[in-house]
Amino acid sequence: IGPVIIVGAGHGGYQVAASLRQAGFAERICLINDEPHLPYQRPPLSKGYIKGSAGPDSLMFRPEKFYQDQSIELIAGRAASIDRAARKVQLASGATLDYGHLVLATGARNRLLDLPNANLPDVKYLRILDDSEALRAIMPSKTRAVIIGAGFIGLEFAATARIKGLEVDVLELAPRVMARAVTAEVSEYFQDRHREAGIRIHLGVQATSIEAEGGKITGVSLSDGRHLPADLVVVGVGVLPNIELAAEAGLPVAAGIIVDEYLSTADPNISAIGDCALFASPRFGGSLRLESVQNATDHARCLAAKLTGDKKPYDSHPWFWSDQGEDKLQIAGLTTGYDRVVLRGDPAKKAFSAFCYHGDKLLGIESINRAGDHMFGRRLQAMDRSITPEQAADESFDLKRALA
Ligand code: FAD
Repeated sequence: IGPVIIVGAGHGGYQVAASLRQAGFAERICLINDEPHLPYQRPPLSKGYIKGSAGPDSLMFRPEKFYQDQSIELIAGRAASIDRAARKVQLASGATLDYGHLVLATGARNRLLDLPNANLPDVKYLRILDDSEALRAIMPSKTRAVIIGAGFIGLEFAATARIKGLEVDVLELAPRVMARAVTAEVSEYFQDRHREAGIRIHLGVQATSIEAEGGKITGVSLSDGRHLPADLVVVGVGVLPNIELAAEAGLPVAAGIIVDEYLSTADPNISAIGDCALFASPRFGGSLRLESVQNATDHARCLAAKLTGDKKPYDSHPWFWSDQGEDKLQIAGLTTGYDRVVLRGDPAKKAFSAFCYHGDKLLGIESINRAGDHMFGRRLQAMDRSITPEQAADESFDLKRALA
C-alpha cells in the first residue's frame, strides 16, 4: 500500500505505528508529532503525574530507541494540508510527505472559556504534558482554585489540588457532576466524597466573569450573583475534535471526522481514529465519537489489522476509568440510554457498582472500587451475554457462574 503517514502522535497515532510493525508491515511509517516530546500517555496528566514528582520519561510509551529499532520515523511538526489527488501531506514547515495511506489521529483540543480575563496566565487547562507541568509548578504557590466544569478532568484535578492543600471550588452548570457520562447514583457518590474531602461543589451555576488586578486573578463571579475568591482557575469544559485538516481536504465532517465501520473516510486512502473520529457503529447503531484510551488504541489496532490484510469492522466494547482522590471509577460498556439502574454493593462502604439496563438488556456497569465487577462486565460483554437485574442486585449471585 506504500508509506503510511500518521498525523498525530497521541494514543491512537502511536498505537497504529506500533501495531503495524508488530503485524509485519515493512514499508515506511511516519508519525507526525506536533508536541515537543516522545509520544506519551495522557491519563496521568490529571492523576499521578500532577500529584507526584516523576519526570516526563515516566509517561512515554517507549524510549527513543524503540522508534529507531522499529524504523518508525518521528517527524516533528504539524500537518498543514492534504493534497488528496497527489497523495501528499504538507507540513507547516513546507516539507511534504507522500502517502499510500494517511491516518488522521489528530485527537481533540480544549474548548476555551469565552470570558474576559480568560487568557490570563493563571487560567489553566489540562490536555497536554506542558499543561500538567505548568499546573504542577504553580500549585505550591496558590491557595484557592476555582475549577470550571465537573467532568472527569475537572474532578480529578480538584481532588489533587485539595490533597495539595488548596481551597477548592468546583462550578458545574448541570445539576450533577459528570452528568453526561455517569448515572445519578454515581454522580451523587462522587459529590459526597469530594465534599467530605472539603471541596465545595456548586451545581447549576456558571462562571460569568473572572476578576483580576494587575494581571493576577482575584476571583470568579457566578451566574447566581455570588463571588468566589481565587488565585488559580482551571477550566475543564470539554473538548473539540480536531477535524479542520480533514474538512479543508474536502472530507465529510460533523461532530468528528466521519468514518465508516472500517474507520475509513470518504477517501479510501485516508482513515481517522480516536478522539477525532465519528465512526459508524453497527453494534450501537448510528455514529459515535468517544474520548478514551480504549477507543483510540482499539481503533488503532483495528486499522493496523486492516492495512496488513485482516479487514474487520471495528466492534470493540468501550471501557473507561477515572481516579478521583482515593476512589477509582471504572466503566464497562456504554451506559447511555438506560432506563433502570441496579446497585450491587454499598455506596456507604465505598464499594459498589451501578448496573445500567434498558429493559432487561445490560448496557454497561459503572464500578466504584469494585475492580472485580468491572472485569466481570468486560468479560460478559465480550461474550455477548447478560445477567438479569435481579441477579445483579443479589450479592449472593456468583458472577463467575454467568461466565462459565
Ligand atoms: P490524542 O492523544 O489527543 O493525540 C492527538 C495528537 O495529535 C496530539 O498530540 C495533537 O497535538 C496532535 N495533532 C493534532 N493535529 C495535528 C496536526 N495537524 N499535525 C500534527 N499533530 C497534530 N481516557 C481514559 O480512557 N481514561 C482516563 O483516565 C483518561 N484521562 C485523561 C486525562 C487527561 C488530562 C486527558 C487530556 C485525557 C484523558 N483521557 C482518558 C482521554 C484520552 O487521553 C484520549 O481519549 C486519548 O488521548 C485519545 O487519543 P488520540 O490519539 O485520539 O488523541
